[in-house]
Amino acid sequence: MDGDPPLVSSLNSTTVDFDLSPEQQSIRKLAKDFADKEIAPGARERDRGETFPKDVLRKMAPLGLLGGPVPEKYGGIGLDFVSHALVTEEVGRADSSVRTTLSVQISLVEMTILKFGTEEQKQRWLPSLCKGEIIGCFGLTEPEVGSDATKLRTTAKRDGDSWVLRGRKMWISNGSVSKLALVFAQGDPSKEAKGITAFVLERDRQSYGSQALHGKLGLRSSDSSELILDDVRVPDANRLGEIGDGFKIAMTALDSGRYSVAAGAVGVAQACIDASVQYATTRKTFGKPIAGHQLVQELIADMVVETEAARLLVWRAGDLKDKGRPNTRETSIAKLYASEAAQRAADNAIQIHGGYGFSDEFPVERYWRDARVNRLYEGTTQIQKLIIGRFATGIDAIG
Ligand SMILES: Cc1cc2nc3c(=O)[nH]c(=O)nc-3n(C[C@H](O)[C@H](O)[C@H](O)COP(=O)(O)OP(=O)(O)OC[C@H]3O[C@@H](n4cnc5c(N)ncnc54)[C@H](O)[C@@H]3O)c2cc1C
Repeated sequence: MDGDPPLVSSLNSTTVDFDLSPEQQSIRKLAKDFADKEIAPGARERDRGETFPKDVLRKMAPLGLLGGPVPEKYGGIGLDFVSHALVTEEVGRADSSVRTTLSVQISLVEMTILKFGTEEQKQRWLPSLCKGEIIGCFGLTEPEVGSDATKLRTTAKRDGDSWVLRGRKMWISNGSVSKLALVFAQGDPSKEAKGITAFVLERDRQSYGSQALHGKLGLRSSDSSELILDDVRVPDANRLGEIGDGFKIAMTALDSGRYSVAAGAVGVAQACIDASVQYATTRKTFGKPIAGHQLVQELIADMVVETEAARLLVWRAGDLKDKGRPNTRETSIAKLYASEAAQRAADNAIQIHGGYGFSDEFPVERYWRDARVNRLYEGTTQIQKLIIGRFATGIDAIG
């Protein structure tokens, strides 16, 4: 028919392009230079002292890196999603604690307000989040409820033009340092998932409490806290999305957060390769650098293959996001694979470093400790497998 493109031409227009654009290369370089100069050097001391990286964030903000994918009109720099992954990988390569802080700020909080907020809410909150004037947190998990978020126990009771929130949130990254909290509460338990509503709390107005958690295996310089909601009164104007849409909003936020975790995990895996190559080419045994022993090269080759595979999975998910296409399955695959690959890479890296790998004289033991949480938060490895399995079989085996 006139006007329809011939089939062959539409086939030819479908390309798989692994080359980054000049803009993507330049934002990657900016993030890499910043990570090498401003993030990596202090990572060990922050880890030892459980010091929240506020100085790093202060330096990142003017570069626009605290609001990467948020459009410029709301204070971000309008990065495409592949670029967002490139930046997140570089930050994750240097320090997973900083990367976690950023993942929550950008992918869970800013992107969720961007997607579900009214114009007034976006204007009100996004510019100060993107500039780093306020830190945000995302409160879904509770002391009794993690994977099964439909069962959350924090309640939201309507009272005139306000809501009264009561409950506890557990393991909330950025919780103690936050000035803004995106939280989820149950307004009608009889409706289960459909009774959950999302709210944005501004600490200066709806004072919620927090208690920092200590003694973590890794991510020691990121803040993890319990949030305390003791009858916190929230105006209805701070409701995000429709009443009862909270669970849907939380799951959409996790699609965004998982992508960021996956990119950060690729960064950890790359850091493990870099440290291992450096060490293996200088440390000598039996008269030659250990990189010259085939079994050591095998450890490195395994890391390289899995890191590249993980990176490509992240880029594919990002490409779908950039095209506005469904990507829950692809994001889960990337998150699952990258987080497991990062853990294996960190384990190989310690092996290559021998006894020194067991000490924080070298960064690889921190990579190993920090990589562990990627398999837990934003949906555990088991939950990712169940999401992927549901797409494969059509059967929901999560519940
Ligand atoms: C450092 C850190 C930071 C975090 N930051 C945040 C944050 O900012 N905001 C937030 O809301 N949460 C955060 N979390 C919480 C995190 O998302 C949860 O820990 C995670 O979702 C798992 O929930 P859970 O710990 O309650 O484990 P549970 O849900 O109790 O699961 C325990 C085990 O059972 C398995 N399991 C559960 N259900 C199934 C099933 N159906 N089939 C098979 N296996 C199953 C799990 O995979 C896991 O192995 C953070 C956690 C940590 C450790």
